[in-house]
Amino acid sequence: MGKESPLKLSQREPDAREEVPMRTPKRLYAEARIIYHPELLTCLHCGDLLVGWNSLAWDKTVQTLDGLLSIATRPGHCPHATCPGSRLRLHSAAAQRMAPLGSTYGYDVLVRIGWLRQHQRATYREIHTDLASRFPISESHGRYLSQHLY
Ligand SMILES: [Zn+2]
Repeated sequence: MGKESPLKLSQREPDAREEVPMRTPKRLYAEARIIYHPELLTCLHCGDLLVGWNSLAWDKTVQTLDGLLSIATRPGHCPHATCPGSRLRLHSAAAQRMAPLGSTYGYDVLVRIGWLRQHQRATYREIHTDLASRFPISESHGRYLSQHLY
């Protein structure tokens, strides 16, 4: 009997299953649905009233300190095909203030993490405890946000 050596990845049992998470992830349901419209009402080129595109943009779920929101914007454009404004997709500034591009956490959450960390000198555990009292978040995810954003 030879000495056992640790298995290499390629030597895993052929029937080895893919790793399954310890817990099934919680499904989160947004508490409110908000569709934003551009604040600008008229075309920058010809001055006519803007109309909305048929499709929504930035359709995503954002965790804020006040709850989980489902947000999207309906971009606007000029109705005249010959106007340069007809090709524009004008978005809502208010929607852009909700969360950074690509983030599912609102600026209010990110600002709170920064304030706890920089001003209160909170540890990762304390930051997690604070966030977890407001919405479901794992300790590792709280740590990730704290480390990668500040
Ligand atoms: Zn126009």
